[in-house]
Amino acid sequence: MPMFVDNSPPGQCIFCRLIAGEIPSARVYEDELTVAFMDIGQCNPGHVLVAVKRHAATLFDLTDEEAAAAMRSARRVALAVREAFDPRGLTLLQANGREGDQTVFHFHMHVVPRHGDDGIALSWPRKDPAFEVLQGYAERIRAALA
Ligand SMILES: [Zn+2]
Repeated sequence: MPMFVDNSPPGQCIFCRLIAGEIPSARVYEDELTVAFMDIGQCNPGHVLVAVKRHAATLFDLTDEEAAAAMRSARRVALAVREAFDPRGLTLLQANGREGDQTVFHFHMHVVPRHGDDGIALSWPRKDPAFEVLQGYAERIRAALA
């Protein structure tokens, strides 16, 4: 996971400043709602961030249009990264909240080209609940969606 944490004062979000051109970035793509630029950390060569242009802290703050635009841009950038760097795999990563490992509180998605033994580890501890428990979780989500 990225260890960089944005400590910008409130109202001076580092991505808002980058999108406004107040700080330099290696931009690769831009459309009406999104912008894509190189992650300064470069977990692997070709590591790109796709951000929405409007300041929205997390997934929960996006409009449906921004969410769709972010995924469309992420896919478009992923296709270009695959063309340019020929990775064996590719990971899309999107984090929300400190507990979700978000470090810059302006919505963004990581497009990370992947190679065997590249040192990137996504910890994914399985809990394997009983099927009835799983059904209970599903019911809670269905109720929230209704
Ligand atoms: Zn921002």
